[in-house]
Amino acid sequence: MVLTLVAALLFTSCASMVELAFDLDEAVAEMENAAKSKDEPPIPRNVILIVGDGMGVPQVYASVVAERENNSAFLRFPYSGFSRTYSRNKYRTDSAAGGTALTTGQKVDNYHVNWAPDSSRHRTIYDDAVSVGMSTGFVVTSSVLDATPASSYGHVPYRKMFDTLSVQMAQCQHSVMIGGGGKYFSTANRKDGLAPLDTLAKRGFTVTYSLDSVLTFTGDKLVGLVYDGDPTPAPQRGDMLRRASLKAIEMLDRNPKGFAMMIEGSQIDWACHNNDSAYMRAELADFEVMLHAVLDYAQRDGQTLVVVTADHETGGVTLPDGDIEKGQNDVRYLWGSHTGCMVPVFAVGPGAQYFSGIQENIDIPEKIRWLMGIGNM
Ligand SMILES: [Zn+2]
Repeated sequence: MVLTLVAALLFTSCASMVELAFDLDEAVAEMENAAKSKDEPPIPRNVILIVGDGMGVPQVYASVVAERENNSAFLRFPYSGFSRTYSRNKYRTDSAAGGTALTTGQKVDNYHVNWAPDSSRHRTIYDDAVSVGMSTGFVVTSSVLDATPASSYGHVPYRKMFDTLSVQMAQCQHSVMIGGGGKYFSTANRKDGLAPLDTLAKRGFTVTYSLDSVLTFTGDKLVGLVYDGDPTPAPQRGDMLRRASLKAIEMLDRNPKGFAMMIEGSQIDWACHNNDSAYMRAELADFEVMLHAVLDYAQRDGQTLVVVTADHETGGVTLPDGDIEKGQNDVRYLWGSHTGCMVPVFAVGPGAQYFSGIQENIDIPEKIRWLMGIGNM
């Protein structure tokens, strides 16, 4: 009996060694193949760049703790790294220069939306995506004219030039744009006499003014101005970010050549400017819900690269204490402004491994370009 047991154990351990040896061979072969093809990146069909405005490492960790156990969407990423966020002229970037860095691969001065020192406009990854036949768009929880979304289509020397930005948005290459800011488009509120809504209509866009009409839209070109001003804070906003993001993905995904889009949790920044930890928690919880939904889509799709990062940290947040079991954080703020520290980067999908380590914010769009097969890293 004992002998049989020993024999059985020996057999089992030999079998697992054989199995292990087989796995190792396979792993080595895989590594060799990867080394051979290191100049040929895996090409994702779709790219979703998700920005948590003002979302530094402390904000992410506060969310990981608050979600308890392993529930945070941030834990679903196999690759992570850091991004250095300084702008062309400042240690601390604002969202205009931060957004421009992430969409163009160029550092510009603070408050400049894709405005180069010689007043020229840099190409965005969305310009490049459209040039190879992909569709593009964005969903934000700010006004559609706010600095981060504006950096994906605009070109102004000062981020608050809303009249100009609305005209540029009406002429831009995106096919889905969802956020707040409806009041800026009404001719009654404008000094320049221009009518960006007419431009959009001429270009075949439907402009809708409620989340319900966004969600039931069946066409291909949509501007959803679902708030007249800024969208309300979470949780009063309801499930807008997740639902609008999935709607945009559903629309963009119809293009057989794929899509590149940006999603922004805009108000994490505003909560941290206000040093309001309950507001920050609500915005991060909303971001988590959206993130889980996008990751579920990417997992099903298998050809979508998802990169999550921030344009900068806001508030100088630190977490001196808390309670892991209860999911509680003692959140403290240094001040009501941005800080210059590195922000996290998370990635999953084809090419995700290239986003680990410490990188410049401008490396992120360059890597996306390289992975999409447009431009060199
Ligand atoms: Zn800010």
